[in-house]
Amino acid sequence: MRDAFAQHLVCPACRGPLAVRVEERAGDRIRTGQLSCACGASYPIREFVPRFVPTDSYVDTFSFQWRKHRLTQLDTTSRKESDETGSCSMSVAGWDAFPMS
Ligand SMILES: [Zn+2]
Repeated sequence: MRDAFAQHLVCPACRGPLAVRVEERAGDRIRTGQLSCACGASYPIREFVPRFVPTDSYVDTFSFQWRKHRLTQLDTTSRKESDETGSCSMSVAGWDAFPMS
């Protein structure tokens, strides 16, 4: 995250301005740090990304989606022709298929 980006962020809890504390930089970007609000809320910056959602929530959401949809895009499990998903994606996107060989 770049320093100037912080002025565009507000606290999700109270919509107040956030103060930036830099722990580690990489060039002109903040690799790790903290965004803090006067209301007492704080949000970490990890690997250049401000994290406004608790880390466990990312993992829980991904885990749920992985368990529910892990076979959704496999044509072999949905008993479709092997290229049906790809052809459908191309037609929805409005692209013409091109030969791969
Ligand atoms: Zn706040």
